Parts: sequence; structure tokens; C-alpha cells
Amino acid sequence: MATAGKVIKCKAAVAWEPNKPLVIEEIEVAPPQKNEIRIKVAASGMCHSDLYYLFEAKNSAGFPIVLGHEGAGVVESVGPGVTEFKPGDKVIPLGAYRCGECRLCKNPETNMCEKCWSNIESAQMSSSDTRFSCRGKPVLQFVGTSTFSEYTVLNQIAITKIHPDARLDRVCLFACSFCTGYGAAVNTAKVCAALKVQPGSVCAVFGMGAVGLAAVMGCKSAGASRIIAVDINEEKFEKAKIFGATDFVNPKAHQKPISEVLIEMTNGGVDYSLECVGDVTVMRSALESVVKGWGVAVIVGWNNVEDVSTRPVQLIAGRTLKGSMFGGYIGKESIPKLVLDHMAGRLNLDEFVTHTVKMDKINDVVELMKKGKCIRAIINISK
Ligand code: NAD
Ligand code: ZN
Ligand code: ZN
Repeated sequence: MATAGKVIKCKAAVAWEPNKPLVIEEIEVAPPQKNEIRIKVAASGMCHSDLYYLFEAKNSAGFPIVLGHEGAGVVESVGPGVTEFKPGDKVIPLGAYRCGECRLCKNPETNMCEKCWSNIESAQMSSSDTRFSCRGKPVLQFVGTSTFSEYTVLNQIAITKIHPDARLDRVCLFACSFCTGYGAAVNTAKVCAALKVQPGSVCAVFGMGAVGLAAVMGCKSAGASRIIAVDINEEKFEKAKIFGATDFVNPKAHQKPISEVLIEMTNGGVDYSLECVGDVTVMRSALESVVKGWGVAVIVGWNNVEDVSTRPVQLIAGRTLKGSMFGGYIGKESIPKLVLDHMAGRLNLDEFVTHTVKMDKINDVVELMKKGKCIRAIINISK
């Protein structure tokens, strides 16, 4: 590649400060250093976690930053020490990766990693680094990935290679929403047996965004007999039905708390509930909607600034509250297999995609997401 070893000037959507529109800027992307890879990003979804950083995360790592963590692209060049990848490979950058060396990575029962977690919290590609700058200022790389840029740089541990025929404007959804929701419902026999939805069980999924819809899909494929879709936006129920939901509840249409409504509907509570909203009140409802004795509630929605509360007796009664990061998937190994499932027609991603736009319309996507008017808009990042 003619660009290998050189700084690339390219377009990116920069968030200069919280609560403001993104600005399409020319940024400079440094060449990959040791063990790093520079990727030309083809397409990216926008996830609520991007919005969370922009609008809600009061203790965020800072600005300016390039958001985006649901992308797919092609390797442009590789730094010294990279043997696993070559220019032209199709890849998916991973916000959730494993360093392979820390205490957590040594335990195959979890997908968590100390290094990855600290980078997610600091919003950088490593604890002190970024390869982006704009107008002479360093620009942070959100969870390392920054897929709202034509080019991005990641360490090879945070990239997975996928099949050369993969459709990048679809399989990008494996980088976040699909794995997060689907995995929270089905994965996990090996991550945590109690999370695994059993055949014939009754499930409730709160929040019918892409993450919640993927959770509905996961509950269905695990054989749940009844899947209750809960959302305050009834426009989402049409999609929920397509993904496999059997019952539809708008909490606002009831006088009683939603947990009581679900308990009545299910003769004592659902077996599993999945919170895919990121709201601590909804998290409490999710817990209090599961049946005494064995019910499991899973927190999927992201929130790192508020406390979640409940009365201890809710847990004493035998309910379990858990969390799930990236659906328990280890992306490096799992995503290439999911891509093959998609190519073979076993996993349909098209239903998630309600809009397709070019990067210069990225603020329209922010508005669509905020207003609940899209599931996923695919942003075509580079030409
Ligand atoms: P989204 O904004 O597209 O969808 C959220 C849905 O929740 C909307 O349909 C909205 O109408 C609904 N909702 C809002 N308030 C509600 C309420 N009180 N009761 C019921 N439904 C309500 O979001 P998304 O992109 O699907 O992401 C969902 C959540 O998952 C976010 O919190 C996101 O940050 C989080 N997330 C977590 C992980 C993880 O690894 N744990 C990864 C990705 C995303
Ligand atoms: Zn996400
Ligand atoms: Zn690790």
C-alpha cells in the first residue's frame, strides 16, 4: 500500500465536547506501531453506548474523541511484529478483547480482561495512547475502536479476521449489538450456566433496540416458549414480533409497576429477564419480574454513573441478578464463526438495519437513535 508507514489524513466524526453534534473533520492517523494494525473502516453501526458517552456518562474519560465501536473494515497496513494479519484482510475491531496475560484472561470461564476493562474506562487504545490527532490536538479513541473514522489503529489483540466474502455492512453488527444481546440470552453455558435460557422457559426482554432484539432472537433460538417484549415505544413491537417475541407490554399503559404486570401475566414471574435499556429503575423491575426460587435477571444495558437498588428480600427469595458484557462472547474466536453462520443464512442481520447513510449524515443517525426511530442505521464510513 502506498500509504504504509505514512500518516494518513482522512475524515472522521469528532466529538469535541459532550451534548454537541459530531463534527466531520480531517484527522491525522499515525502509522501502526509494534503489534498494531491500521484498518480502513468500511461500515459502522451506532450503538446506544456511543450516545451514552456523548450525552449521559458524567465521568467519561474526556473529549475530543472519535466514537464508534460497531464497525468492520479492511487491513491497510501492519506494524512490526504482526504476523496474523496482512493488508487486504477483512477484519472486525473489538471493543471487548483479551490480553491473554492477566488473571481474568487465564480463566476460560469469563470473557473479561483487566487490560481491556481499563481501556474501556479510559477510552483509549491503550492506557496512555491514541494514534489520532486533529488540528494539532490528540483525539481519544473510544474503547480503542473509533469506527466513525475512515482509518483507525488497534493492537492486534483487539482485531479479529473474518471470511474474505463477508458483507462488511452487515457483519459489523457482530462487533456489538448482536453478540451483546444474543449472547446474553444463549451463550454462556460455559461463561455462567445460570444465564443459559432453558428450552420451554418464559423470558422478558426490556428495551427493543438492536441489543434487546438480539436478546429476543437468542431467547427464541434457545427454545423459550414465551418471550415478552417490554418497551415504552410501541413502534418497536412490530420488529419485536419478527424477531420472535410472543407478548408485548408497554409499562406506560399500566397503572401498576411493570414487575407486577409481568408477575400476573406469568403466574409468579418470568424465568429470565434481560435489561437492555441501561436504566437503573428498569434494572430493578427486571430483577423483581423474575420468579422466586430460580429466576435470573441479566443487566445488559450500560450504566456506570448511577446505583441500582432493590430490597434484599428480593434476592433472599432466590432470585439472581447478573451482568453480561458483550454477551459473554470472546470476540476474537466467536465472531469469525458467527460471520460464517451469517454467510450460510443461519443468522439474519438484515432485520436490524432500518437505515443506511453516508458518514456526513452521521448526526441524523444520532437524532434517529435519540427519537427511537431506528433500530440500526448502517453508516458507510469510507468510499
Ligand atoms: P437503543 O437506544 O437502540 O434501544 C433502547 C430501547 O429501550 C428503546 O427501544 C427504548 O424505547 C427502550 N426503553 C427506554 N426506556 C425504557 C423503559 N423505561 N422501559 C422499557 N424500554 C425502554 O439501545 P441499544 O443500542 O439497543 O442498547 C441498549 C443498551 O445496551 C444500552 O444501555 C447500551 O449502552 C447497552 N449495551 C451494553 C453492552 C454490554 O456489553 N453490556 C454492549 C452494547 C450496548
Ligand atoms: Zn455497543
Ligand atoms: Zn487480560
